[in-house]
Amino acid sequence: MTTIYLKKNKEESLLRFHPWVFSGAIAHINGKPQEGEKVEVRSAEGQTLGIGHWQEGSIAVRILEFGTGTLPSDFWHQRLLNALQMRQSLGLISDENNSYRLIHGEGDFLPGLIIDIYGSTAVVQAHSAGMHLARHQIADALTRTVPNLSHVYYKSEGTLPFHNHLTDIKNEYLAGSPSSDSSHIATENGLHFSIDWFDGQKTGFFVDQRENRMLVERYSKNRDVLNMFCYTGGFSVYALRGGAKRVVSVDSSEKAVRLAEQNVLLNFPDCTNHETVCSDAFKYLDSLHADNDKFDLIILDPPAFAKHRGAIRNALQGYKRLNAKGFEKISKGGILFTFSCSQAIDKEMFRLAVFSAAAMSGRKVRILHQLTQPQDHPINIYHPEGEYLKGLVLYVE
Ligand code: SAH
Repeated sequence: MTTIYLKKNKEESLLRFHPWVFSGAIAHINGKPQEGEKVEVRSAEGQTLGIGHWQEGSIAVRILEFGTGTLPSDFWHQRLLNALQMRQSLGLISDENNSYRLIHGEGDFLPGLIIDIYGSTAVVQAHSAGMHLARHQIADALTRTVPNLSHVYYKSEGTLPFHNHLTDIKNEYLAGSPSSDSSHIATENGLHFSIDWFDGQKTGFFVDQRENRMLVERYSKNRDVLNMFCYTGGFSVYALRGGAKRVVSVDSSEKAVRLAEQNVLLNFPDCTNHETVCSDAFKYLDSLHADNDKFDLIILDPPAFAKHRGAIRNALQGYKRLNAKGFEKISKGGILFTFSCSQAIDKEMFRLAVFSAAAMSGRKVRILHQLTQPQDHPINIYHPEGEYLKGLVLYVE
């Protein structure tokens, strides 16, 4: 196996279980590793620090196991089982809730791997060459480990575009066949959602808002609700179950709006108080003029405005502008749910952007809840970069 030797004193972060080796920390390499190959990492003094996937780029090695140069033969099964057992012990998986994230990358000690479960189908996303090369072993371990799982769909065409060396990336079933995978309905807290893992964003659904959607349900009774950036209509369906007077779901994607409509009808076939609007968020908010065009509960859950650190400044301006519009369009005593899923923006920065928007509006604003990602998106304490979802629930007078 290829051995990577670190520069002197560069072993510190690995001894503290941070799973990334940056290329700048490498002194020399004993061998010629291929993209995605497993390599052993040693300190300058020759101490074995761990074994991980090699990749060309700034993060050169993603560690799979610390303190050893080999992996056990049942490694994949053991890792998946560990993740599954944690979720089972937390009471997350039941007939009422069969959609959840099984593997959240570093948070489940598998850097570069995302797996979401929708009923009897797993959707696997590789974000590293190593995970791509291991996809068949992962699929095999999945069907052996997760009860009642019959299909594994691999969806990494969009997450591995930067690797010239990997020519065999294609979205496909690794277990089960498309014809036998006809039910695309998953259940979340007793609500049903039709999930399009072929063409939908990411793995087809945003399971990370599950707990926050329940909070929306709690506050929706008799309120006029605006769900901006609705995508599959998750928040809308919960708001309707919570007894909202009216729900408006807005998204700039025609497909998203149709999905939202479909999911509302799946749960409430006779629903008459849900509307969808296909529009840019800012344009829609600007189009609300009259005083009676205000909402009692607004959800702002935009896509990541900052995809990397270089975009932080503009992203903060974007959050400020969007939230300022939210404060303008919310009625007295209204509740604003506002989110950011940009990993590069931490909660202090986000709160400052929302604070600036609140100050511009001149309204009295109190923080009721500070939200984050749920327990099936755990943050490895040694890898704080895994924290990405931030939300504030505000009472606006
Ligand atoms: N709230 C959703 C997830 C939102 S994902 C949920 O709970 O599942 C972000 C959504 O914003 C996507 O559906 C995307 O189509 C939409 N979007 C992106 N830019 C937009 C814009 N300028 N105006 C309105 N919608 C936009």
